[in-house]
Amino acid sequence: MPEKCIYCGKETDLSESDIIPDALTNARIINRCVCRIEHNNKFSDKFESKVIESLAFITNELDIKSSKGKNYAPYEAYITIEGVEYKLALHGDNNIFDGRVLKSVDNTHMISTYEKMVKIAKDEQKVTPLDVNSIEIEKRVRVNNVIFFDDALYRMVAKIAFEWYCAKNRIADHLPEFDNIVRYIVDGEGENPVSIIQEKQVYDMLNFSTNLGSHVLIGYENKSGQVEVVVWLLGLLAYRVVLAHKKPNVCSDNFLFTELRTDSSRRELTHKNREDANNTFWNALNSSDLYQIYEDAELKMMVPRGMIAPLKYMDLYPTVMNLVQYLENANDDTKEPNEVVNDIFLSQLKNITQASSLHKKSVKRFMNDIFSDGHEPIILNTKTSNKKSTMLFYCVFLVGKMKEELTDYSFHKLVKNEFALSENIIVTD
Ligand SMILES: [Zn+2]
Repeated sequence: MPEKCIYCGKETDLSESDIIPDALTNARIINRCVCRIEHNNKFSDKFESKVIESLAFITNELDIKSSKGKNYAPYEAYITIEGVEYKLALHGDNNIFDGRVLKSVDNTHMISTYEKMVKIAKDEQKVTPLDVNSIEIEKRVRVNNVIFFDDALYRMVAKIAFEWYCAKNRIADHLPEFDNIVRYIVDGEGENPVSIIQEKQVYDMLNFSTNLGSHVLIGYENKSGQVEVVVWLLGLLAYRVVLAHKKPNVCSDNFLFTELRTDSSRRELTHKNREDANNTFWNALNSSDLYQIYEDAELKMMVPRGMIAPLKYMDLYPTVMNLVQYLENANDDTKEPNEVVNDIFLSQLKNITQASSLHKKSVKRFMNDIFSDGHEPIILNTKTSNKKSTMLFYCVFLVGKMKEELTDYSFHKLVKNEFALSENIIVTD
């Protein structure tokens, strides 16, 4: 059977579709059965660009960047320096004083390099030098949560759920069971299949078992035979997408889990259903009565001695089985903002902005931002509100002393050894 587009059944000019837009993830996943123009390229203008632009502040915080572009996506911020407010486009915390001219919101002040300012003012008396190493800078960003309830985001989430589920089930044609969701993604018409999960327990389980800022996708068949996919976008809000009211016969895998992390690693489980996952897990545990300690970078657990390859991601099974069982039955979703959802959103956003994940990519980005050609000598500003950068300066120092090759694994080992910690590092004043 030749491969066809999952949206329209066309055989010609198929392309690789980024299931999650490239600018929103460091871990690429693709669906190869999507026709190039109508059902791949056009989605960018139809809804993806709007979402990507609105999420720029969040992707910056998580060090997520499109592999195609050179820079991180810019976002709008208000900065207060010496009591005067400036509005500017930022990408990251480290490019405020990059030589451009900042104009204050009330149009009474400007900041740039001393030479530039003297030239513009034409009078040295009117220019006051600023010591960037000792001034206090306050940064404010408006996070527009309206986008999380916007049609553009719902259509993008529906697209992610549909293309991912089809890829996992090796679907290479348009199936009539998916008519509604296809219509919704392509034209924004038909029944909206996307809703927001507002049970706090679901978020607690997800926070507990996955990394900061991950995308998580969970596919299952609910108790009434409906195919559903939950998309947890950047560890913020979780969306439930109804793919089909009745499961197509050819779709055999209906216990699916993927976590895409900001350090570009991923974890996946694929099984026919919850029972199949359950059996696999318990068979692995029971296949011998002699146990040994199995240890990898993330966990320590007892596994049967002599197992040639211990079951991969064994620690994930109990949580994902619980989650799926919960999702199959729970349905208290909303499509509109309300107090419960706003509280969940704010608390998840707080996690992301107050914590940060350290990986090779974040150090590389910091190096490029700070140590540009011909940069000024750097003195740490003790009044900075940017604690992450102080931490990163120290990391750069550590990496400089390192003898091994820099990988995420060797980097984490180095930082953990340095601080004699086995768990999270909390950076405070
Ligand atoms: Zn198509």
